[in-house]
Amino acid sequence: MRIDSRAVHAGREPRSREPLAPPIVQTSVYVYNDLDDYDDAASGRRPGHFYTRNSNENTTWLGAAVADLEGAEAGLTTSSGMSALLVSILALAPKPVPIVAQRDLYGVTLSLLRQDLGPAGYELRLVDADDHGSVARALDGSGLLLLETLTNPLCRVADLAALGELAAARGVPMLVDNTFATPILCRPLELGAAAVVHSLTKFLAGHNDVTAGALAGPEAVVAEARARSVRMGTNLSPFEAWLAHRGLRTLAVRMRAAGAGALAVAQRLASLERVQRVHYPLLEGSPYEAVARRQFDGGGGAMLAFDLAGGRPAVQAMMERLRMVSFAASLGGVETTISHPEVASHRSLSPQERAGLGISGGTVRVSIGIEAAEDIAADFEQAIGG
Ligand SMILES: *Cc1c(COP(=O)(O)O)cnc(C)c1O
Repeated sequence: MRIDSRAVHAGREPRSREPLAPPIVQTSVYVYNDLDDYDDAASGRRPGHFYTRNSNENTTWLGAAVADLEGAEAGLTTSSGMSALLVSILALAPKPVPIVAQRDLYGVTLSLLRQDLGPAGYELRLVDADDHGSVARALDGSGLLLLETLTNPLCRVADLAALGELAAARGVPMLVDNTFATPILCRPLELGAAAVVHSLTKFLAGHNDVTAGALAGPEAVVAEARARSVRMGTNLSPFEAWLAHRGLRTLAVRMRAAGAGALAVAQRLASLERVQRVHYPLLEGSPYEAVARRQFDGGGGAMLAFDLAGGRPAVQAMMERLRMVSFAASLGGVETTISHPEVASHRSLSPQERAGLGISGGTVRVSIGIEAAEDIAADFEQAIGG
């Protein structure tokens, strides 16, 4: 089946007399009337849920659905994208090692590496993922490569196939955060990733009503992450899993609609005098156009950014005039939202670090929703002015 069909059906096959829609199995524990049977389930000799921190129907269905879309052997869901990153990093690099990471990783991921893993002995080697020579040098003697398929907020595209080869040549596992691209655009496991991580909070759940995370990869890696998630208690709740799974079933249509809208809005924004620059991989002249066309199926994704002349006061004035589009410091929902990296996602960086990444007070991040592209573009045009 093609990915659009799998998105609808993945994770659970209802049998005769079972409900068509997944039920919510809202329990923390399961009844057993046979000690041997419990022993088999608890030791993993036979599949069976016994305690929701370990597993539950809803989290299992959702994990299987994410694995299916990523083309992975196994999947695991967690309480958030951050906990998915934590258990994935610990599964791939259980002992302190140098971690090679992209300089423009999601801000909280950088903070996790610096403030939590740093004091535990992990060394952080930050690189520019476009500079393959410096990535190769940093990989020598390292234990993990951590990348994002598409970065926040400037939509840089990492050449995963090329970077995966550099890592593989040195025996370093590559972990990819595929949150912005989603498996509809890109499946990093096909390009050499050892595991893939998602903030399901964003496009996979897609409705700005749930916080959840997932990872997918080979059974051995996912089993390591699952064992850590059980001990650290980073499990997802059944209801949140049910909501995310419900959202995931429309992922393909949402991503295709929002991707088409993003390109149209990017082109309209690029024609405005007060917009200095639009960052979108498929926009003509983007340095990432070639790699995006090679690496992505069906579009350039639903995220874009632009630099508004006049800096932060101009962004504030635009926000006050926007009618349909809201400011909200997340992304990936059915509604178009904007964020301001300087005050939101990149607030923990110094002004110098932000400038080094190309983020200014006028930089606006946009998560395109599934409204009519014409309405989204018209809202920005009237709010920005001529
Ligand atoms: C939001 C996000 C995260 C963190 O996910 P949460 O669900 O908020 O914990 C990690 N990586 C990327 C790229 C994100 O956008």
